[in-house]
Formats: sequence, structure tokens, C-alpha cells
Amino acid sequence: MSQTIWKLENTIKHYDWGSIDGITNLFGIPNPTSEPMAEVWMGTHPLGCSLVIDAKLGKIRLDKLIQDNPQEMLGNKTFNYFGTLPFLFKILSAQKALSIQVHPTLKNAKLGFAKENQLGIPLDAPNRNYKDPNHKPELIYALTPFKAMRSFRAIDEIISLFEKVAIPDLISPISLLKNNRHSLKHFFAYLLTLSYPSKTSLIKKLLINIDSFNEEPFCTIKMLANDYPNDIGLFMPLLLNIIELKPGEAMFLCAQTPHSYLFGCGLEIMANSDNVLRAGLTHKYIDSSELLNNTDFESTPLNQLLTKPVVRENKFYFPVPVDDFKFEIIKSDESKHFEQVKSAQIVLCLDGKVTFTTKSESLILQKGESAFIAYQTGSYYYEGTGYLAKVFV
Ligand SMILES: [Zn+2]
Repeated sequence: MSQTIWKLENTIKHYDWGSIDGITNLFGIPNPTSEPMAEVWMGTHPLGCSLVIDAKLGKIRLDKLIQDNPQEMLGNKTFNYFGTLPFLFKILSAQKALSIQVHPTLKNAKLGFAKENQLGIPLDAPNRNYKDPNHKPELIYALTPFKAMRSFRAIDEIISLFEKVAIPDLISPISLLKNNRHSLKHFFAYLLTLSYPSKTSLIKKLLINIDSFNEEPFCTIKMLANDYPNDIGLFMPLLLNIIELKPGEAMFLCAQTPHSYLFGCGLEIMANSDNVLRAGLTHKYIDSSELLNNTDFESTPLNQLLTKPVVRENKFYFPVPVDDFKFEIIKSDESKHFEQVKSAQIVLCLDGKVTFTTKSESLILQKGESAFIAYQTGSYYYEGTGYLAKVFV
């Protein structure tokens, strides 16, 4: 039987919000140029396809490997349903905040993609919202303390935070929200569409009025103001929950959930899509009307934001309500563990050294190394002390 398990060589993304040493400190992945190292991509996304190291052919692209034998690589079920590897797996390390964003539903992504094609907006145009016709549900798993903003706070909480900030210009918009608690969308739209000079003046007043406040969410606003001094996103900590995940905790973000990752290292697993609608903390294009139509304005309490794992022997499985990916953390030890392969897998070694043995070959993964395991592997054993993160379908 030919090779069915390959070590990966992955694309590194040097976005400016990335940490210079976060990924190196965790995984020993070198950063010789000392640029921010924001993300490592494991998968077949056209903007950053992994290479596999093949015993006969040398380095080849993972998308090519899959295209040449899709049924063997993916299995019939994934092939028939998706036609391709449906997920993208990332290591992410943020030194400063990523933009506040939502991702569209599958239905809206299809409609939006078709509409922008029809309008002739090039795929790489700055005002292009929909890069593909896919949704982008995502799960973030914290490797270090990981701070994020996510989902709207309870309306009462939003009102009392804005009252505490006490900006005279906002008294009337806030009283409208008080009188009609279903008008959060309206209030959000009001903030987003403020134009110069009102926007600048409101942000100035916000920063002056919170100067003596050192608790959350005000300390987050002050931190964000260092990197995004005149950005309407500085109001968002008053509207969105602030959560700090402990290492080993995870949260799933379904379509239309507003969120922003603020600080820390984590693993991110998502459907293979690049559809992002932004709402602040960005220099990129903000399409307010498209954003408002794709945002869920329901409040979600802080204690409902985490995804609790299901513990199965040595595995921590994090259930998600989509078909595009599954995710689990595996604790490996010196004993041999049997694994049935039911779909293609990407496995990342988080710590230690783990040996994978299939019917015809064996592969060792050390901390920071990853592998693609084809469906046709059928089954394998793994052994050796360490932790693995596994993404599958
Ligand atoms: Zn996102």
C-alpha cells in the first residue's frame, strides 16, 4: 500500500496584529525575520495551501494530492458532500486585536457571492465582501489565556455601561434604546454610521470620561485605543461581552455572531471560507448595511459562551453544530491507542512526541509538527507521551 500519512509544511501569515514570538514560544516554530507571526494555516485554502512531504515525490501541494485521488483521500462521504477538504485549521497568535467581525450564513454567502459577481466587483477589490459562496463557522481553542469580545450583552447591561460613560450626545440614542429594547440594531447602526467630526468627538469624550475607570470593559477600551485611536470599534466593549478563555477552553462562533479576538494564542478551526464582514478595529472596508443584515442582535449571557467538551477516555471532544469539521484534543501516553479513520484528518502535535503507525508505515510528530492522514489509511495506532489536536469531518 502506498503512503497515506504525510507530514505537513504549512503557510505562515505575517498579519500586523500577530505576535512576534507567541508561536515560537509555544511550538518552537522559528521566526527568523522577526515579523509578526499571526497564523499558521493547515489545509488547502488557495491563499495558503499546505505542502505534504511525500516519500517518492518530495514536496507537493496538499490540494493537488487530494484532487488527484479525492475519494481515497477524503472518503466518499466527504467527497460527495463537499468535493474538497471542508475545513481550515490554524494556529493563531494575537498581540493586538483583530477586527470586530461577523460571518454570513451559508444562504447569505451564496446570495452575496452571486450578487457581487453579477456586479462585476473583482475578488480582490477592497470593497468585495464575499470572497466565496461558503459560510465560516469557527471554533477557537485557547492555548494561552485568550481574550475575546463576543455576542451582545444584555440590553440592561449595555444601557448601564453607556450611562456610566455619560456622553451627553448619546443620551437621546440611549433613551430610544431604553424605550424600545428591540432597537439595538438601530443603536448599533447609529454608532457605525457616525461620520466625521461627530465620530472623532464622541471617541474623544469616551476616552476622557473613562480615564479614571480601571475595571472591565473600560481597561479593554483603553488597551484598544493604543492601537486603534480613532476607531468606532472602541465603543464595542460596551456592547459586546468580554471573555477570557483559560488554556484548554473553547468557544464556537456560529454565523452572524459579532466577535473579535483581542489577545492570546489559540487553535482556530473553520469552514474553508474567507467571508468576513467587519464592524470596527480595522483599516479595511466596512459595509454597514451588509453587516447589519448579517448580524444577530440577540443578547447572550457570558456563562453561555463556552463550548463544553465531551470527555471520552483520553479524548476531549468539542461538539459543534455544523458538518464542516469536528475537533478533539487527545492525550497520548506510552500505551498503544487504536484509531479508526472515518474521514481525512489533520493532526497537530501540541506537546511531546507521538508515533503514528499505519498498516504500512510510521511517522513521528513532535511539538509543533502536523500531518495529513488520508481516509484510505483505514486505521492507525498512536503512542508516546504528548497532546494532539485533531480536526476531522
Ligand atoms: Zn471570525
